[in-house]
Amino acid sequence: MSDEPIDVERMNEEEWKARLTAEQYRIARQKGTERAFTGEYWDTKEPGTYRCVCCGNELFDSDAKYDSGTGWPSFTAASGDVRTEDDLSLGMRRTEVLCAACDSHLGHVFPDGPGSDGQRFCINSASLQLDSRGPDTE
Ligand code: FE
Repeated sequence: MSDEPIDVERMNEEEWKARLTAEQYRIARQKGTERAFTGEYWDTKEPGTYRCVCCGNELFDSDAKYDSGTGWPSFTAASGDVRTEDDLSLGMRRTEVLCAACDSHLGHVFPDGPGSDGQRFCINSASLQLDSRGPDTE
């Protein structure tokens, strides 16, 4: 992903395609899903901020990341700006999670999480970009 600032309101499909890998585009802009246990971050324990791969908006913090056993990065809470929408595709009733800044598809949230809120944010690695912080800067 390029570091140039972008105006998300004015991005068209061709511009998103040029900016993202084919896999990132398929998942983040076309509501795709990566295969479990294949994404870059499903097993990552590195501390940092997970940002939107499309626009750089802060989405999740590694403090809320846990091993759900699903093969996708999973979080008990969002730390940044996400929004949700009902998703009735594939014959299921699910709650889609999107970046509130650029509307990219992130994944889904389920009510079976281990935290006090009982939420499990099941997110595609391809929609995320980890902004690492060293253990000594926490
Ligand atoms: Fe975004």
